[in-house]
Amino acid sequence: ASRYKGLESFPHSFSFLLSFTISSTVVFNMVVEVPRWTNAKMEIATKEPLNPIKQDVKKGKLRYVSNIFPHKGYIWNYGTLPQTWEDPHHKDNSTGCCGDNDPIDVCEIGSKVCLNYQVQVKVLGVLALIDEGETDWKIIAIGVDDPESQKIHGIDDVRKHKPDYLEATVDWFRVYKVPDGKPENQFAFNGEFKDKDFAVEIIQSTHEYWKALLHKKADGGAIKCTNVLVCGSPYCCSEEDAKSIVQSVRGKHNFLHFEKSRLMHLNSALKLNM
Ligand SMILES: [Mg+2]
Repeated sequence: ASRYKGLESFPHSFSFLLSFTISSTVVFNMVVEVPRWTNAKMEIATKEPLNPIKQDVKKGKLRYVSNIFPHKGYIWNYGTLPQTWEDPHHKDNSTGCCGDNDPIDVCEIGSKVCLNYQVQVKVLGVLALIDEGETDWKIIAIGVDDPESQKIHGIDDVRKHKPDYLEATVDWFRVYKVPDGKPENQFAFNGEFKDKDFAVEIIQSTHEYWKALLHKKADGGAIKCTNVLVCGSPYCCSEEDAKSIVQSVRGKHNFLHFEKSRLMHLNSALKLNM
C-alpha cells in the first residue's frame, strides 16, 4: 500500500481520468455501483441527465439479483470504468458480437467490502461474457490499497491466492439471470480469462468509443452525454448548468442517488459538490 500512499496528495484532476501511472503501475479509477454481498442492481443510469447511479427498474419494480447458491448477492465489488463505452454498433473481432451500450464492467476482488463510490484499481484480466447476444466484458481488478494487491499482479496470482474465485465468477455470470426466467449466458474463449495486457487493450478500445460518443462521432441513441470535463465535446456544459440540472431532477426522483453521484463521464461529485 505504501507505494500508493502519495495518491491523496495528487492533483485533484487525477480523479477525473480513466487511468494514470504511478510507480510504473497503471491505475484505473473504478466507479463502484454494487458493494459485495448486496443484491440491489444499482447502476449508472446512462439515459438520465448527468448519469447518476440508480437502481434498475424492471416492469415497474426495483431490480435485485437473486442469490446464486451458495453465494449472497454479488460476489465482488461490482462497477464500471467511467469514460468507456461498449459501442452497440461495433462488432468485436474476438467475440463476434456488438457491445452492450454500457460502460465496461469491473469485478473488484479485494478483501474489503467497498462502500466508497470510487476506488483505484489495477487490472488483472478479463472475461468475455456474451449476454443475450451482446459483448459484455467483465474486467477483473483489485484495489491498489487492498492488502492483497501486494501479492496479486495478474490472473494467475488470483488462481493461486484466491482458489475457486475465478470458477465461481464464471458460474455466477452463467446462471445469475436463470432465476428470472432467462437462459444461461454464454462466453467467448470457452469462458477462459484473458490476461491483463489483453484486458487493458479492451479498455483502451472502449475508451476510444467513449471519446467518439462524446465528440458526436458515434450514435449513442438515448445516452445523455452532458458533461463538465470534456472540453471540445458539444455536450460540455458549465458547472453552474450541471448544478441546476441536479437541482431540477432531485425534486422529481428522490430515489436517485445524487448525493454522491457516480457518473459515466466522471462528472464527479467532488467537482460539482453535489
Ligand atoms: Mg456491461
